[in-house]
Amino acid sequence: MRTVLEHLAAAMAGRTPLPGVRTPLDEVVGLIAAERLVSLVDLPGFDNSAMDGYAVQAADLAGARRKRGVRLPVIAHLAAGDAPTQEVRPGTAIQIMTGAPVPPGADAVVPVEDTYGGAQMVTVTAAVPAGRHVRRRGEDLAAGSVVVSPGDVLTPRRIGLLAAAGHGEVMVHPRPRVAVLSTGAELVPPGDDLAPGQIYDSNSHLLAAAVTAAGGRTAYRGRIGDDPATVRAELTRLAAQVDLVITTGGVSMGVHDVVKDVLRESGTVEFVQVAMQPGKPQGLGVLMDGDRQVPFFGLPGNPVSAAVSFVVFVRPVVRRMLGLEPADTTTVTVELTAGLRSPAGKVQFARAQSRMLPSGRLGAQPVAGQGSHFVADLAAADLLLVVPPDATELSAGSLVEAVLLDGELAVTQ
Ligand code: AMP
Ligand code: MG
Repeated sequence: MRTVLEHLAAAMAGRTPLPGVRTPLDEVVGLIAAERLVSLVDLPGFDNSAMDGYAVQAADLAGARRKRGVRLPVIAHLAAGDAPTQEVRPGTAIQIMTGAPVPPGADAVVPVEDTYGGAQMVTVTAAVPAGRHVRRRGEDLAAGSVVVSPGDVLTPRRIGLLAAAGHGEVMVHPRPRVAVLSTGAELVPPGDDLAPGQIYDSNSHLLAAAVTAAGGRTAYRGRIGDDPATVRAELTRLAAQVDLVITTGGVSMGVHDVVKDVLRESGTVEFVQVAMQPGKPQGLGVLMDGDRQVPFFGLPGNPVSAAVSFVVFVRPVVRRMLGLEPADTTTVTVELTAGLRSPAGKVQFARAQSRMLPSGRLGAQPVAGQGSHFVADLAAADLLLVVPPDATELSAGSLVEAVLLDGELAVTQ
């Protein structure tokens, strides 16, 4: 039997970020930049006004006071977007709005609050030092400065900077296209009528959503029976369209373990037992699309096993393909609020709910149903406790490592 870490290492081996694709800014939030870009412009691009007011020569206003205003003729008006056509000469002013270019001759802007008057004449009631309320060309960033580097996360702020710097597109590692296929003759789409022995296919929905939540793109989600020829054809068809294929079901020791039967002979997918609970039987490898290798995960069919396997093995691969580092699942330390039994020799991934303890520590209440078919208790959990192979009995108060199922906590008091 393989350890969890050995299997994770096998899953990650050879996985690299997908080649960069130039992509419009509207589609890149949360993705990782795959190129270096420099600003095409100075920021600000020209000296401009920080206030609504009057562009002036500061020396004209040295004597301006509240009770002893200085009157100036207003010779022009400049709104944001206008290009100056006149110069501020000594003893004149140009009315100016925020963001409008400071006209030649002017060396300061008097805010409208320090004036009265209007469009023809203005009385300025306060002196202003040279340079005041002028945003200087290039004071934020000079043209040619780096605005994004490979590996940077494209946050909303970084996207704003790219746009300000003149870039409408950026090269990113694209979202991996993922196919999710449930296998099992018993499966029916939710919403249909159930015949005796049938159940609703929940795995494909759970995994498709998990792919999206991990940053991937579910390019196909579907369900198929247990007929080997059909499954073989479907896997070939899907591999040609995507960057990653996930199946559920048909990988254990049953008579109709179709995924195993179809792919065992391929030589590119191995079927192994991993020392974990749930999730022991795992298929892992690549499907061939001509010369192209398409990573493949054959997850077990039990819904909790499939969900846990995704978090532990598939999510890190999706993150790696996106160029996210660390690609591995991160853990937090939590304090058990109830005891827990665990099998010897395996990592148990027990589901639990987080809660804030009076001590200020983060607590974890294991859900009641730890069997791999308890989908309601799975849905109630936000933590996956990582109980090590040598721990068979943990008492309340024990400290345990836990994976955040959604990458964040949903702490209840
Ligand atoms: P298998 O790994 O195919 O033997 O399936 C193990 C268990 O998981 C069986 O009880 C299946 O009915 C159940 N199961 C398999 N696939 C799904 C699915 N897509 N949705 C819900 N339950 C499933
Ligand atoms: Mg099955």
